[in-house]
Amino acid sequence: MEFKKCARCGCFFVSDVEVCPKCLPKDRCDISKLTNYINDNNITASTISNLSVNTGITLKNINRYLDSNVIPKVNL
Ligand SMILES: [Zn+2]
Repeated sequence: MEFKKCARCGCFFVSDVEVCPKCLPKDRCDISKLTNYINDNNITASTISNLSVNTGITLKNINRYLDSNVIPKVNL
């Protein structure tokens, strides 16, 4: 267990995940939304910014999900 800064809200908490307990449900919601969207659309590097516009999820969070492999791979 480590002392960490939440990747979403910036608050400090102790855990081995990247977001605080308050933000975990928001992460899960974003991840299922993105997974559905990616599966239904042909996402490429040139449309990755549309991903943010069309889902309302920030690019910062999208990149975090991509880095941790919790959403389907996008062809970059
Ligand atoms: Zn948080």
